[in-house]
Amino acid sequence: MVIYAPAPPPFACAICGHEWVPDRWHTRCDGNLPIQPICRRCESDYGGGRNDRNRDRRIIWQLKALASAIDCEAYRRHHGGAYA
Ligand SMILES: [Zn+2]
Repeated sequence: MVIYAPAPPPFACAICGHEWVPDRWHTRCDGNLPIQPICRRCESDYGGGRNDRNRDRRIIWQLKALASAIDCEAYRRHHGGAYA
């Protein structure tokens, strides 16, 4: 039997700023809910681990996502990208 953590309270993603608010479909606890402070999309786009439901590995994917987001922002600032 797998015990999942309860659904997180509403939060704004640390990378994209999207506000995640649980609705009636997110009340059940499963491994696909976002873990604060990063939304599920940024976790998989920047970090990897798509469809990984293991919470410990997802936290590692989140650390990788934060490092990748900082790396992307540094690249944009250094090379004068569209978002600099
Ligand atoms: Zn996000």
